Amino acid sequence: MKAKSKQQKLVGISCLECGGALRAVRKDYPFAESGLSNVILKNVEVLVCDRCNTETPRLPRLNDLMRTIALAVIAKPYALEGQDVRFLRKFLGLTNEAFAAILNIDKSHLSRVETGSMPVSSMVDRLVRLVALGLSEGLEQKARDVIARFTEIQKPKKLKLMVDAGTRSYKYKAA
Ligand SMILES: [Zn+2]
Repeated sequence: MKAKSKQQKLVGISCLECGGALRAVRKDYPFAESGLSNVILKNVEVLVCDRCNTETPRLPRLNDLMRTIALAVIAKPYALEGQDVRFLRKFLGLTNEAFAAILNIDKSHLSRVETGSMPVSSMVDRLVRLVALGLSEGLEQKARDVIARFTEIQKPKKLKLMVDAGTRSYKYKAA
C-alpha cells in the first residue's frame, strides 16, 4: 500500500509555464500562496514539473481550506503577528482602509502592523480575532470557545500551522 501511494503518476496535463509533462505526488506543501509563511498543508496532491522545477498544489474546496487556516490563526494560543492580521483582513475580503475603520485605528498604523514594523497590541489582537470570527461565515459559532481561551494567549512564538486539507483540522508545531 505504502509503495503504491508513493508512486508518481503522470496526470496528462501540461505545465502552464513551460509545457512540460506534470506528475502528481503527495507531500507536505508550504502554502506561501496563503499569504502566511508558516502554513504547511499536510499530504496534499502536488503537481510537479521536472522541466521548470515548479510545484502546484491541487486544492479542492479551497474556501473550506482557507476557513480552516483562518480558524487556526484566530484560535492560536499565541499573540497574532503582522502577517496573521493581514491574512485575516484579506480572508474577510476587506481593504486596508475598511479594516482600519472597523478597528478604529489609523490605516497607516494598520499597514505598519501588517508588515511587522509595529507590534500588534493586545487590544488590536483581540479585536482582530473577534471581528474575524463575527464576519466569517461558518466561524461565528466558534466565538464562545475562542473567547474562553483569550486569557491563555501567550507572547508571540514562531509556529508552523500544520493543516490537513482533507479533514479540515489543524495543529500547531513549534517552528
Ligand atoms: Zn514547467
